[in-house]
Amino acid sequence: MPSQNRPEILYNLFSSVSSLRGVGPRIGEKIEKLTGPFIIDLIWHFPSGILDRTYSPEIKDIEIGRVVTLTVNINSHRPSPKNKKRIPYKVFCSDKTGDISLVFFQSRKDYLQKILPVGEIRVVSGNVEVFDKQLQMTHPDIITTTSHIDEVKKIHPVYPLTDGISQNVLRRIINDSLQLTPEIPEWLDPALVNKKKWPSWNNAIRKTHSPINVKDLDPLNKARERLAYDELLARQISIQLVRGRNIKRKGLSIKANGNLRKKLTDQLSFELTNSQKRAIKEIVSDMASKKRMLRLLQGDVGSGKTIVALMSILDAIEFGKQAALMAPTEVLAHQHYSTIEPFLKKINITCAVLTGKDKGKSRKKILENIANGSTSLIIGTHALFQQEIVFCDLGIAVVDEQQRFGVHQRLLLANKGIAVDVLLMTATPIPRTLMLAFYGDLEESTLTEKPKGHNPVDTRLISLNRMEDVYKAIGRKLSIKAKIFWVCPLIEESKKLDISAATERHRKLKSIFGSNVGLIHGQMSQDEKLDIMSRFSISNTGNNNNSNALDLLVSTTVIEVGVDIPEASIMVIEHAERFGLSQLHQLRGRIGRDGQRSTCLLLYSNNLGETARSRLMILRKTNDGFLIAEEDLKIRGSGDLLGTQQSGFPEFKVANIEEHKHLLSIARDEAKLLIGKDPTLVSSRGNALKTLLYLFQCDDSIRLIQAG
Ligand code: ADP
Ligand code: MG
Repeated sequence: MPSQNRPEILYNLFSSVSSLRGVGPRIGEKIEKLTGPFIIDLIWHFPSGILDRTYSPEIKDIEIGRVVTLTVNINSHRPSPKNKKRIPYKVFCSDKTGDISLVFFQSRKDYLQKILPVGEIRVVSGNVEVFDKQLQMTHPDIITTTSHIDEVKKIHPVYPLTDGISQNVLRRIINDSLQLTPEIPEWLDPALVNKKKWPSWNNAIRKTHSPINVKDLDPLNKARERLAYDELLARQISIQLVRGRNIKRKGLSIKANGNLRKKLTDQLSFELTNSQKRAIKEIVSDMASKKRMLRLLQGDVGSGKTIVALMSILDAIEFGKQAALMAPTEVLAHQHYSTIEPFLKKINITCAVLTGKDKGKSRKKILENIANGSTSLIIGTHALFQQEIVFCDLGIAVVDEQQRFGVHQRLLLANKGIAVDVLLMTATPIPRTLMLAFYGDLEESTLTEKPKGHNPVDTRLISLNRMEDVYKAIGRKLSIKAKIFWVCPLIEESKKLDISAATERHRKLKSIFGSNVGLIHGQMSQDEKLDIMSRFSISNTGNNNNSNALDLLVSTTVIEVGVDIPEASIMVIEHAERFGLSQLHQLRGRIGRDGQRSTCLLLYSNNLGETARSRLMILRKTNDGFLIAEEDLKIRGSGDLLGTQQSGFPEFKVANIEEHKHLLSIARDEAKLLIGKDPTLVSSRGNALKTLLYLFQCDDSIRLIQAG
């Protein structure tokens, strides 16, 4: 495991969060979910707001609407009457200028009497309101003694939270974590630090966690900028380490005669597009050269990337190598398997699928066959990165929907073989400058045309008011055996709500259309999901009357990426205005893959403004994913497009690709220079840089230089 050689100075930071005072198993588990298992993860959890508790007037001067910190005398308690728990418990307080009551609902008497003893003075902080002409503070945020007033009367950081942890608790825990951060030798170039006027790492961390105004939350202030640079530098160094090592173990050229490709071509019911032919040629010639391939295959949804990948894979197999194809989800991995395996079977090539869910004996068997070379193509999820997976002789690794994986993960896959060629695939256009910054040098192939017969999806906007009409239209389509996707609203704050909306819609549609209506969502087990997807893909044309078949599938956005049900020709998307345009485009790319006419109904909220409507209209007007991505960028800013889970580089803790773009090339150049001079990081600066890699948990690459 990567942790073995972690420098001693970081021991504290890599202790478990549950080693902190007051963090039991229950809170520990919540924190681990929110930030991660280690104290360092809490350090990287930055405030997103501030709360000013410095305003502490006398009672008579209180301005309503501001958070106040008061020093009050506790005069008396009035518990809720027995059997009338809905009437709140009140504690009457005063200072020499006036009265105020503290109000508690459903609170315990003994507890309140303990923290607010009659006759004593206490500091309370919270919001004040007027009720029945009286001042009151309902559930003060803070109650403490006067000796702690300085800790209260200040500006507090506000952290992103998760259910079940309060702001106060999280703040205290993070504060305790900060006490454990050591002074660490500087790893940055002093000249750069000077020029940028950056604080030391330790100071930057402290400053970030004690914002005193909103400027301190700005990703471009000195402290945050430094930390973002640290992260970018760590990433760049680790990429250089991985790539440096890969280049060293250089070059075998995979030269095949294309016999297997020809056999596959003979099986296809369609002709490859010119784009596809060109991309295959580019890839094959990369593979044949002595250089290791790192190529990105870009192409809009439905442009036919899979077949291009498969052709490249076949060359590797013909040459006697193994191939790996990696997908971001288990559903997708299985989907790839079920489309690819029948083709390969006909030409006697072995193929297996491996995901996290394969356990026990069957897993062992799969791993054995990978290790002894009897499986030629292995399809899987990120499970394929794991150390226990040993290939006999891997020649090419294909990463589908590459933006869903960490840069780092992607590069590590290449270490599974001696000279593995890597093909990355994406439907999300990524600006070239960013790609370069992330990968160093990278070749690109782009599929510019869609396969023939791929009719553009007829996209329509319909108000949610007209749901009854939509039901009728769907009923008509079901009666002529259409396969229909119904995507339910995305509710950002809560996965649970997503699911309940989908469940509700499923119930409703089932009551109208009967048992061939299915439901799929993210909280189902993989088995359930796979089962539902396979029932939805049962063909219902001809005389096929399988009672298991699903014709209408209600889903949350789990189907977004890559799922291919060629027969599906209709998609309904509820509350389309809540999605990004690119996301909607990806979604509708799921339908009409068989070349049949297809329709996408975008249902929008009744109170949709003109701008929002015209934004959706873009989807009506064009089917070009790159154009749509550009529009999306204009409207939402690339931060949204690239910086977040949706399609971006999710692995960053601090840096924000949009805000900190200006630092990327500096970090890249510096990393190159550093690794050029000290390729195994043994100098004293090199050692400091190792610490940096540990801090950002990019230390897998350190293992590489240690392994030699
Ligand atoms: P994506 O680029 O979105 O991954 P896929 O590789 O899944 O697209 O291909 C989409 C669909 O188009 C598949 O059903 C595939 O069989 C089909 N397809 C691929 N290439 C062609 C082609 N040249 N002509 C017709 N259909 C094609
Ligand atoms: Mg695909």
